[in-house]
Amino acid sequence: MVVIGGGLAGITAALTAAEAGVEVTLLEGRPRLGGATFSLNRDGMWLDNGQHVFLRCCTEYLAFLDRIGSADKVYLQPRLQVPVRTPWGTRAELRRSALPAPFHLSSTLARYPLLTMAGRARVGLAALALRRLDPTDPALDEITFAAWLDRFKVTAREREAMWDLIGIATLNLPATEASLAMAVKVFRTGVLDRNDGADIGWSLVPLQELHGDAAGRALDRAGVRVRVRARVQAIDPGPDGFAIDVDGERLAADAVVLAVPHHDAARLLPPRSLLLDGVRSDPTLLAGLGTSPIVNLHVVYDRPVLDTPLACGIGGPVQWMFDRSAGHGLEPGRYVAVSLSAATTEIDLTSARLRDRFVPELARVLPAARAARIERFVVTKERAATFRPAPGSGRLRPGPRTAVPGLALAGAWTATGWPATMEGAVRSGLSAAHEALPHLGRTRAIPERTTPL
Ligand SMILES: Cc1cc2nc3c(=O)[nH]c(=O)nc-3n(C[C@H](O)[C@H](O)[C@H](O)COP(=O)(O)OP(=O)(O)OC[C@H]3O[C@@H](n4cnc5c(N)ncnc54)[C@H](O)[C@@H]3O)c2cc1C
Repeated sequence: MVVIGGGLAGITAALTAAEAGVEVTLLEGRPRLGGATFSLNRDGMWLDNGQHVFLRCCTEYLAFLDRIGSADKVYLQPRLQVPVRTPWGTRAELRRSALPAPFHLSSTLARYPLLTMAGRARVGLAALALRRLDPTDPALDEITFAAWLDRFKVTAREREAMWDLIGIATLNLPATEASLAMAVKVFRTGVLDRNDGADIGWSLVPLQELHGDAAGRALDRAGVRVRVRARVQAIDPGPDGFAIDVDGERLAADAVVLAVPHHDAARLLPPRSLLLDGVRSDPTLLAGLGTSPIVNLHVVYDRPVLDTPLACGIGGPVQWMFDRSAGHGLEPGRYVAVSLSAATTEIDLTSARLRDRFVPELARVLPAARAARIERFVVTKERAATFRPAPGSGRLRPGPRTAVPGLALAGAWTATGWPATMEGAVRSGLSAAHEALPHLGRTRAIPERTTPL
């Protein structure tokens, strides 16, 4: 089997197939594994291309970390706790209790100073109604999350203070643009169905070390042949399998898992091989999934400015902030990574413009930053960080099966039921391996999934 793409989806598919006794080659176009999760060296300092977090409900991602030997390199909050900061000085906190869902958030909602009494009631009512919605109902993919919140008379301010705080970071779109179906998935699975689903986790080491490098060793142990700097140009299905064009060479494969971003899949899929709702479709339709950017600002101050491991900004352009000082020889609170999701404005601004705009804004939400000097200001941009989970996107997300037997699709953009996340990527890799394996003479049992996908 050949797996094309060395992100979390491709790595998972390759490991799963190899563990089933299949001979696997993984082809990755870039010089490293890890896909959209990587680290880069800027003037001797290792920075992640973008802050990545996961939630306790990301069970397959956690199992993936275990599988590649990285489970001890992440931290997972014992209980959800998010400090919230505003430019006008309010310090709030979202924290869950040990009560069962949905009561685990009632005391934090009752005390949340960024909502009025009436606003809390509206948010609470909407949350209870949201719990009764089914994210797989196609009707929910026809409207935006904001249009649905309007039915509860939730104001724009309440939306920002409560729903967008979580929604923008997980969906990479604001409620005004995101599909209700995807929002229901995130809020039900993460926040409302279980009391511990939204406990937040993050890496204690650079992403490259957490995923790509550790996965390289796990793939090696599993006997997978990994080729980096191997960019596939074409996949030709034939009567006896597939011919894969990679840098002037033709490789033969009896099955293929294509685990590349959707714009690359649109180019590589054979004509009319895409199956959307069981109908053979033109792969160019995948362009309709669009892209949504993420920008990260890496700001190193000469003194501590952030007194918590993470915090969320509300009421200004600053979104989530993370203390990344550890591992850089810096005392806590000095290296702040600011993650800007749905960054359609910021993606086209120069580093100098971003610095002019965000340094004063950071000083407004982090008072200690006002007197601090900035030692380093680095910007990382990902223009096509995720697809846009807008209304109608559900129809454009194929499952792992294609119209060509033996050719399976993986990637966070496929129909995983999740938005474009690490959890979705891992789930898609498992599904694609399970789709492709029956086409091969595998020698061992297909590994069980840990949870239903
Ligand atoms: C800045 C940023 C922040 C994010 N934050 C979070 C977060 O906090 N939490 C979260 O869960 N998710 C987050 N995500 C999303 C998450 O990183 C992705 O959804 C996930 O990593 C995608 O994995 P994948 O394997 O599906 O695709 P990718 O990681 O994109 O992997 C696809 C691979 O295919 C390779 N490829 C493409 N074309 C070819 C070709 N022709 N031949 C060979 N190889 C090819 C690419 O080089 C790439 O390595 C974030 C993403 C970004 C960019």
